[in-house]
Amino acid sequence: MYMQNPVFIPGPTNMPEVLRRAVDMPTLDHRSALFAEILHPALRGVKAVLKTETAEIFVFPSTGTGGWETAITNTLSPGDRILAARNGMFSQRWIDMCQRHGLDVTVVETPWGDGIPADRFEEILTADRSHEIKAVLATHNETATGVRSDIAAVRRALDAAGHPALLYVDGVSSIASMDFRMDEWGVDIAVTGSQKGFMLPAGLAITAFSPRALALVDTAKLPRTFFDIRDMRRGYAANGYPYTPAVGLLNGLKLSTELLLAEGLDAVFARHRRIADGVRAAVRAWGMELCATAPALHSDTVSAVRTPAGFDATALVTHAATVYDVAFGVGLGEVAGKVFRIGHLGHLTDVMALSGLATAEMCMADLGLPVRLGSGVAAAQETYRATAATSARKAA
Ligand SMILES: *Cc1c(COP(=O)(O)O)cnc(C)c1O
Repeated sequence: MYMQNPVFIPGPTNMPEVLRRAVDMPTLDHRSALFAEILHPALRGVKAVLKTETAEIFVFPSTGTGGWETAITNTLSPGDRILAARNGMFSQRWIDMCQRHGLDVTVVETPWGDGIPADRFEEILTADRSHEIKAVLATHNETATGVRSDIAAVRRALDAAGHPALLYVDGVSSIASMDFRMDEWGVDIAVTGSQKGFMLPAGLAITAFSPRALALVDTAKLPRTFFDIRDMRRGYAANGYPYTPAVGLLNGLKLSTELLLAEGLDAVFARHRRIADGVRAAVRAWGMELCATAPALHSDTVSAVRTPAGFDATALVTHAATVYDVAFGVGLGEVAGKVFRIGHLGHLTDVMALSGLATAEMCMADLGLPVRLGSGVAAAQETYRATAATSARKAA
C-alpha cells in the first residue's frame, strides 16, 4: 500500500511522519540510562498537556481501555458505589467494565446526543448523605455521538453537594485535542491512549492520578497485577518499568508532547476548533444534523452526522471504504445505521479535511441522497478561507 488517503475515523488518527519515525527505533536496553532520557521527558510532557502540577503520570503498554482498568482497580473495592451517565457507547463500555469488576454502578440514562447531566448528578450526590458513592465517572468526549461534556460542571455538582467522591475522566478522544484542565477541574484520575490526540499508533494507556486518588491505592481491594501503579511507580523511580516498556511508543510520546507544547496548547485547540467548524458548516450545507443536540455540546474531534430517516448510514461508510479507499466511522450501539462519524482530530489540515468532505459527498450522491456535489465542501472552504489568514499571521 504505497498510495494512501488520510483516515477520518476518530482514532487511530493520522500520524505525522516525524512521529512515525520517532516510534521506529532500534532496540535499546530498557534498563539503560538512555531509556530514562525517553521516559521522564515523556511523563513530564503528559503532565503539561493535562495541565496538572500535582498528579502522577503512569503509562502502561495497553490502550485507553486498560487505562480505565488502571483507574478502577487501583482505587476501588468490590461493591463500591459509582455514579455514571450512559450517553453513548464509550460511557456504556466503562460502565460495563465497572459492573464486571463487581462495582455497584448508579447509571443515569441520558439520551445519546446529550451531555452528562450535571444537575442530575448534583441531586443524586446531595441525596447520598452517607457518602456511599466513591467515584463519579465522566466521559469528557463521547466519541460515539460527538458530544463534549462539561467536566467543570461535573466538578461544580460534586462541590455543590459537598460530596467527597472522586472524579474519574475518560479523556481518550479529547486530551491533546481539546482543552483539558486536570487541576482546575479537580479531576482525580484522567485516562487516555496514544492513538488519538497524541497522533501515535495504539499501544499506550496514559493515566494521571491526583494525590487523593493515589492515597487510595493501598486500601483498594480490587485485584490488580499488570496495572498496579505501585509497581509502576517503583519502576519509574529506578528509571525503568516493572516489565518491558514499549520504548518506541514512549519515544513517540516524548516527541508528541514536545510538538504539542511547542505549537502551544491553545493553538492546538484552536486548530481543532477551526477544522471542526468547517466540518460542521459542511453538515449544515448538506441539510443534515449532528447527533449532538446543542452547539455547546459539539465535539471538536469527531462529528456524528445523522443521515435522513430510512437511509443506512453504515452503507455510506462501507461504500467510502470499498469505492474510494477512505475510512469514516460507523454509528455504534443505539445510533448504529443512523449516523456516520467524521473524525477530525490529531494530524489533520484544512486540505485533508476538505478531501474527506468531498469523499462523503461522492458517497452520498452515489447512494442517492439528495446532496449537491460541492455544497458541503464549499461551506467548509468558506470557513477555512475566512480563518486561514489568522493562523498564517500567528505563524509569522
Ligand atoms: C477510543 C476511546 C476509548 C477506547 O480506547 P482504546 O484505546 O481503544 O482502548 C475509550 N473512550 C473513548 C472516549 C474513546 O474515544
